[in-house]
Amino acid sequence: MARYVFITGGVVSSLGKGLASAALGALLQARGYSVRLRKLDPYLNVDPGTMSPFEHGEVFVTDDGAETDLDLGHYERFTGVAARRTDSVSSGRIYSNVLEKERRGDYLGKTIQVIPHVTNEIKDFLAVGEDEVDFMLCEIGGTVGDIEGLPFFEAIRQFSQDRPRGQCIFMHLTLLPYVTASGELKTKPTQHSVKELRSIGIAPDVLVCRSEHPIPEKEREKISLFCNVRKDAVIAAPDLRSIYEAPLAYHREGLDQAVLDAFAISPAPRPDLSRWEDVMDRLENAEGLIRIAVVGKYTQLEDAYKSIAEALTHGGMANRVRVKAEWIDAEIFEREDPSPWLEGFQAILVPGGFGERGTEGKIKAAQFARERGIPYLGICLGMQMAVIEAARNLAGLEDAGSEEFDHEAGKKRFTPVVYHLKEWVQGNHKVARKIGDDKGGTMRLGAYTAQLAEGSLVSRVYGGQTIEERHRHRYEVDIQYRDQLESCGLVFSGMSPDGRLPEIVEHRDHPWFIGVQFHPELKSKPFAPHPLFADFIRAARDNSRLV
Ligand code: GLN
Repeated sequence: MARYVFITGGVVSSLGKGLASAALGALLQARGYSVRLRKLDPYLNVDPGTMSPFEHGEVFVTDDGAETDLDLGHYERFTGVAARRTDSVSSGRIYSNVLEKERRGDYLGKTIQVIPHVTNEIKDFLAVGEDEVDFMLCEIGGTVGDIEGLPFFEAIRQFSQDRPRGQCIFMHLTLLPYVTASGELKTKPTQHSVKELRSIGIAPDVLVCRSEHPIPEKEREKISLFCNVRKDAVIAAPDLRSIYEAPLAYHREGLDQAVLDAFAISPAPRPDLSRWEDVMDRLENAEGLIRIAVVGKYTQLEDAYKSIAEALTHGGMANRVRVKAEWIDAEIFEREDPSPWLEGFQAILVPGGFGERGTEGKIKAAQFARERGIPYLGICLGMQMAVIEAARNLAGLEDAGSEEFDHEAGKKRFTPVVYHLKEWVQGNHKVARKIGDDKGGTMRLGAYTAQLAEGSLVSRVYGGQTIEERHRHRYEVDIQYRDQLESCGLVFSGMSPDGRLPEIVEHRDHPWFIGVQFHPELKSKPFAPHPLFADFIRAARDNSRLV
């Protein structure tokens, strides 16, 4: 039966709870344990799939097709454990399950209440798969005291009571603000946050204190005394140069030891940190700088393309170069010539996106990369735009476009080279959709297999011919344009196993131009960079030699 670590936060949001959880997962693995990480989000959306990236950052998709919080991406990048649908839940999902059961009559006429019905639903979620791993790390979104979060805090309190003594611990993240006038780190907000936590029956075992400065011994003693946490379980979390420093930094500060002590695991197995030492070595001993232009839509919010930013960094690590991704709003190219903007970059990436806004600019970026022989990676919408570019400018289909934009505009303007997919095969069953279906959870989602063409660039990059990658889209490139496009040099080099859905395209006469219908960035890890990103950065580096 798994041991549980519940991770909560206080004082302010965005303290890096997800990162601390992920780093703890990595450290427990380094000591030989198996781990799973879970996220419980208090918002009322059933999942983040329908939220704008501006609201909540990127939507992270799992192999089994769940649209989840971007923290699950951190978890995967740090532990290498593929996240599952059962690793993420929101209040919306919990309430919707409870209400569904109520309508079905499962509660036998009882009055439905937060305690016990909602809290039981949360506890059932926590218990899924508890026999599969040594440690289950569960992060509660938001901060202690938020109205929406209360049922989750109550549920974890109950859960720890239901289990044998010593099976659950609580780790709380807080902030120690630095007051410049007095030159001091202030512990009062942390004290208040712990007080709030204790008022709902949770006494933290480990306190992780974010601060810009080291915690002086005197302050550590004070926190320990006033918050009733052992002194060696008051862990300093200083600002880091890179998120990938977190496992080593937290280990230095004694986080994993404090957690094992709280479970009374003694002697603790010794950690093997070589994976993270190698990651840091690659990051810190990089030679040269590669500049990548990311031409997208959600460019004001860094978190909107979180996994892409990380995968580019990993690609750099694979080649021991530093990668600087610069985000350019695609709409600019609808008004201005892209050349002065894009010259000087070693490669161009067009990421995924939804809706028509900015797409003409993305098409121009694809054209620029194709004509100038600059490495291009188009992801999902970025692939669709590359196909439309080739259809318009090489195959002479001047009004080529995507049905997505016609649907949005409510009128037909384009030849649908990219069309709305209504029926497809997943594993060994058929999936069907129609226009006007609910927006939530109805795309082609999760892992699908693709077959790569022999002799293609992608089969060389992957080093094989069968791959499995994660999808999240409603529209597809139409296979009926294949011959026409291939005769112009745009090769369909990856296909679904039934040969109906184009998964990858590449330009035959271009050094490195690849469009993929899936999201390779979701599977990249610092210790295992995704082959597409690794080779994209290699091509960018070779391109910079030519400049
Ligand atoms: N909007 C496109 C579709 O639904 C692309 C989606 C994406 O880029 N993730 O097919």
